[in-house]
Amino acid sequence: METKCAAQNQFKRTTVTSALPYANGPLHIGHLAGVYIPADIFVRYLRSKGEEVLFIGGSDEHGVPITIKARQQGVSPQDIVDKYHEIIKQSFKDFGISFDIYSRTSNQIHHETASEFFTKMYDQGDFIEKTSEQYFDEENNQFLADRYITGTCPHCSYERAYGDQCENCGTTLNATDLINPKSALSGNVPVLKETKHWFLPLDKYENWLKEWIIEGHKDDWKPNVYGQVKSWIDHGLQARAVTRDLDWGVKVPLPDTEGKVLYVWFDAPIGYISATREWAEQTGNNWETWWKDPESRLIHFIGKDNIVFHCIIFPAMLKAEGSYILPDNVPAFEFLNLENDKISTSRNWAVWLHEYLVELPGKQDVLRYVLTSNAPETKDNDFTWKDFQSKNNNELLAIFGNFVNRALVLTQKYFDGKVPPITGLTDEDKKVIAEIGQFPARISRSLDLFRFREALAEMMNLARLGNKYLTDNEPWKIIKTDRERVRTILNISLQICANLSIVAEPFLPFTAHRLASLLNLEKLRWKDAGTEGLLKPGDLIREPEYLFEKIEDEAIAAQVQKLMDTKINNAAGAFKAKPARENIGFDDFAKLDIRVGIILEAEKVAKTKKLLKLKIDTGIDKRTVISGIAEYFEPEDIIGKKVSILVNLAPKQLKGIDSQGMILMAENLDGTLGFVSPPEGFVNGSEIR
Ligand SMILES: [Zn+2]
Repeated sequence: METKCAAQNQFKRTTVTSALPYANGPLHIGHLAGVYIPADIFVRYLRSKGEEVLFIGGSDEHGVPITIKARQQGVSPQDIVDKYHEIIKQSFKDFGISFDIYSRTSNQIHHETASEFFTKMYDQGDFIEKTSEQYFDEENNQFLADRYITGTCPHCSYERAYGDQCENCGTTLNATDLINPKSALSGNVPVLKETKHWFLPLDKYENWLKEWIIEGHKDDWKPNVYGQVKSWIDHGLQARAVTRDLDWGVKVPLPDTEGKVLYVWFDAPIGYISATREWAEQTGNNWETWWKDPESRLIHFIGKDNIVFHCIIFPAMLKAEGSYILPDNVPAFEFLNLENDKISTSRNWAVWLHEYLVELPGKQDVLRYVLTSNAPETKDNDFTWKDFQSKNNNELLAIFGNFVNRALVLTQKYFDGKVPPITGLTDEDKKVIAEIGQFPARISRSLDLFRFREALAEMMNLARLGNKYLTDNEPWKIIKTDRERVRTILNISLQICANLSIVAEPFLPFTAHRLASLLNLEKLRWKDAGTEGLLKPGDLIREPEYLFEKIEDEAIAAQVQKLMDTKINNAAGAFKAKPARENIGFDDFAKLDIRVGIILEAEKVAKTKKLLKLKIDTGIDKRTVISGIAEYFEPEDIIGKKVSILVNLAPKQLKGIDSQGMILMAENLDGTLGFVSPPEGFVNGSEIR
C-alpha cells in the first residue's frame, strides 16, 4: 500500500479515458455501472482534491454494425451515428457524467489523428503487408466484412451463422469456415478474391508485454484484469489486421487503397487522443502534455469485453508509435445483469437511461448509488428493482436523507436556522468528532485503489454516524430542559452534514450540491473535509427540503411489469407456428356445421376453475354449452358476445351438465384465449364455412 501511494505521487496529472460507447443504440444501466459511473466518481474525487485531471469520452462511430443498421433502415451510416451520438451524449449529461469533452470519431480531427498515427507506424515499418483471399460480392462490387457473410456453422449446423461468429453455439469463425456462404448484400454466393491488408505483428511485443504487465503490474492491476491479460499472453499473440475492406471509417492513408479503411479497433482508442486534441484546441491547452509527458498518468475505464484492446493492443500501438505514455492502470469492471438475466440490446433486456429519467424523474443519484453499491467490480453482479427500492428507502432515505432532514429542521425550529455554537463537549462528542476526521482518508484509500463499493459504503457510514448521534442524543426531548446541550448536538450534526456535502459529491453529485446549497456553503474541497469547523456559529442555513423521497411499491411494480412484457414480446418473436396437420378432404370439412351465435347468459360452473356454463342463441335454438374459458373471461364481460359455434358436435356431459356444441377460440402462444367472433351484422344462425 505504501509503495502504491508513493507511485501515484510521482505523477503530476491524470488522463482518464472511458470506453467509447458504440453509436448504434442508446445507453443502458450496464454501461453506467461498468464504466462511466466509476470513472466519474474517480474524476470528481481527483478534482475535489485539487489534482490536475482530464476526463475524456466520445462516441465510437465506425465499424460494420453501424453500416448494417444503416442499410436495414435505408439511411446513411452518418444518419445512424448522428442520431445515437446525440442520445448518448444527452444521457451522460443527464446522469452527471462530468466529461471535460465528449467527442466522436466521425470528426475530422479524429480522421487526421488516426491517419497520422497509422502513417508514422507505417513509415517506421511497424506493419506487415499481407495479401489474402477474401469473399467478394460481384454484384455489389464489394469485399464482404465478416458480418456481411452468412452460412451454415461447421460446428452446430446453424444456418444463419455470421462470418466471424456463430450466434447459436458461440464459436468464433473465419468467413471461409462457413458452409454454403452467402452475401448478406445480394444473397449471391460470394467469390474469393485477393486483397491486401496491413497487420500489427503482436507476437513481436510478447516479451515486452510480459515484462511490462506480467512483471511490472503484478501488484497494482486488478486480479480480474491481470488474469485475463496473462491468459491472452500465455496463449501466444498473433498478428492482427489493422485495415478492412469497407467504405465507412478512416480511409487508409496510402496510395491505391480505395475502399479500405482502418479497422475500427485500431481507430477507436486513438479517439481518446483526438478528443484530447479537440479539447486542447477549444481551451487553448497543450494536448501532448496529457499523452506524452512521463509525469502524466493514463487510466482507462472499460468493461471486461475491452480488456484485450486496452491492455495489449492499444499499448502495443502506443509503444510502437513511440512518443506516448502507457496506461498506468486499467480498472476494468465485470458485467451487470438485470433481474438475473444478461443485459441484451437485441432482446431489449435492459433499463434504458433515457426511459429511466422519464419514468423516475430526478432520481439520477438513486441510480448512481444503487449501481455503485452493486458495482460489478470483481465479478458479475445483478440489478433488481426490488433492491433498487430497498436501497433508496432503507439507505438513502432512511439514513442519509433522514439524518440531514432532522438536523436542518431542528436547527430551523430551535434556532431560526442559525448554526448554534458548541457549548461544551462530552466524551461522546469528542469521539464523534475524532471519527469525522477519519472519513476522508478512509474514502480516499478505497478510491485510490479503485474500490468504489467500499468507498461508497464508507461515505454512507458517515451519514450513519450522524443519524445515530442524533438518535442517541434526542435533542427533541431535552430541548425543554437543556437548551445549551442541544446547541452542541446540532452544531456537531450540521458539521457532519457539511462533511457529507464534500465526501458524497463524487458519488451523488446532484444531492451533494443541493445539500451544500441548503447549508449555504461555498464550494468546499476534499481537503476541507474531516473537520468540525466547516460551519461557523451564526451561519444561516436555508429552509429544509427533502433530499430523497420514498419509492412506492407501485412504481417498482410498473418497472417489473415492463420487463415481464419484454419477456412476453421476446417469446412472441421466437414463436414458431406448429406445422399444419394432415390433409383432409372437403367432405370431412363439410361435416362441420358452424353457425353465428350470441352468448345470452354466462356463469361459473361450481367447484371448477376452468369451466363456464353459457347459454347461446344459435339461431336454431337456445342451448347450453360448457366452455373451458373461465380463467380468461369473467362471465359478466362476455354476455352479448358474438361467437362462432360448432352446433353438430355430439352432446357431452360435463360436471353433470349437458354441453351441446363448442365455441371456437383462438389460442395465443402464451395460452391465452380469444373468441373467433363473426363480423358485426351477421344474424344468429348464419353459416360459417
Ligand atoms: Zn454454431
